[in-house]
Parts: sequence; C-alpha cells; structure tokens
Amino acid sequence: CGIVGIVGQAPVAPLIVDALKRLEYRGYDSAGVATLDNGTLDRRRAEGKLVNLEKRLGEEPLGGLIGIGHTRWATHGVPNEANAHPHFAGDVAVVHNGIIENFAELRDQLRVEGADFASQTDTEVVAHLIARALKNGASPQEASFATLKQLRGAFALAIMFRGDENLIIGARNGPPLAVGHGDGEMYLGSDAIALAPFTDSITYLEDGDWVVLRRSGMEIFDMSGQPVERVRQQSSGAS
Ligand code: GLU
Repeated sequence: CGIVGIVGQAPVAPLIVDALKRLEYRGYDSAGVATLDNGTLDRRRAEGKLVNLEKRLGEEPLGGLIGIGHTRWATHGVPNEANAHPHFAGDVAVVHNGIIENFAELRDQLRVEGADFASQTDTEVVAHLIARALKNGASPQEASFATLKQLRGAFALAIMFRGDENLIIGARNGPPLAVGHGDGEMYLGSDAIALAPFTDSITYLEDGDWVVLRRSGMEIFDMSGQPVERVRQQSSGAS
C-alpha cells in the first residue's frame, strides 16, 4: 500500500524503512525492502508491522546504495512473508500498489513458458514479464514499457534491475506516485510525506506516466513512449 525507492549515495535500507513508516497511516499487513549491493540483489521481508522488518534487517542487514521498499495491503494472496513485496524474477525486483486485473491470464501464459511462481500475488507476473523481455534482449527500459502495455488494472510500480545500480523505473496508473529530486540522489514515493526527510522538491506522476530515475535526474514518458514534462513543485511535506 506504500512504495519507496531510492537511488542514493549512502546505504538505503534504513532510509527506506524510515520513509515506509511515514506511509503507515495508509494501513498494511506486511513489508519488505530489496537492495542492489555490488551486483547482489537481495531482500528482507516480514509479515506484520515495520518493527518486524527492522528486526529482520537488524539480524541480517542489507547494504547497497539503491533500493525499493513496500508496505503491503494484501488483495491477492494471504498476508505472509512469501507474498510480501519486493517480488523477484530473474534479474528483476518489483513492488506494486493496486491490482493487476488480468494477472491470471498473464500467469497462465508465463507458466506455459516455464515460469515458476513463488507467491500467490497478482504482482509477481510483472516481475516475470519484465524478466522474460530482458532475456529476449530488451533493455530494462524497453522491457518495462513493453510490460506496462500488457497490464490492466490499477497500479503504482517501482522496478529495479540486477546489473544496473543506477536505475529505478516507476509507473503510475491509478494509485499516486511521486518523484523526489535530490542532489545526486533521486527518490520515488507514494506521496510527498514519505519523501519529506529527503527532499521537498516533488514531481507527481499522472496516470499513464512512467519514469526512469538515475542519480543524475529523471525522465518521464507516457503510454505512447513519448517524453512528457510534468511540473516540479515545492512541497511542504504536509500535503
Ligand atoms: N495486489 C498486490 C498484492 O496483493 C498489492 C497490494 C497493495 O497495494 O499493497 O500483493
């Protein structure tokens, strides 16, 4: 139910958990964070409150200057650790708010092609679709765009790729998603409140927008693949 992504300059896992705490007001039943650390894609997830995730991270910390995190409000699949986000397939990690309405058809097709599903969520198809496109030679950007065009339903997504520690792709079709502008760092969050500790310079995505985030900045595209301009605004962090 809440999304945070950071392409940063310092270890991001604790920062992501702090930002997720600012989204607790939305309600959730489990939480997780994934990072890339010198070629390693890894995650920690926990059922229940963020203190449980913090405990997991305390036992087994996650390094890395880039990561994505999520608080889940289950719609498909019970609230447990296996269904908690981030979801992985191949070199791809995904967090998702909302519902992928055509996930069953997509999952059946992916299964025919040999994909193994590790969760009961609607979300996991997104990771597999992008991973399949990557395998077929698409770039992360091409694979994400091709996948977005296949999804029906309401979603906010953050996507990360093993092999590129300077890239998060976000997408919005329904649930809100905002980009936070930093100095040599970029952020993604469900709202400006989540990003308030990092920046008050915010660009809200519109429905159908997807964004490519790197430390140096960002570029927003629409569903026809064309670059689009969106207003960058100063947020009080309270709105
Ligand atoms: N539909 C997804 C799931 O059940 C995401 C739910 C959410 O918005 O947190 O895992």
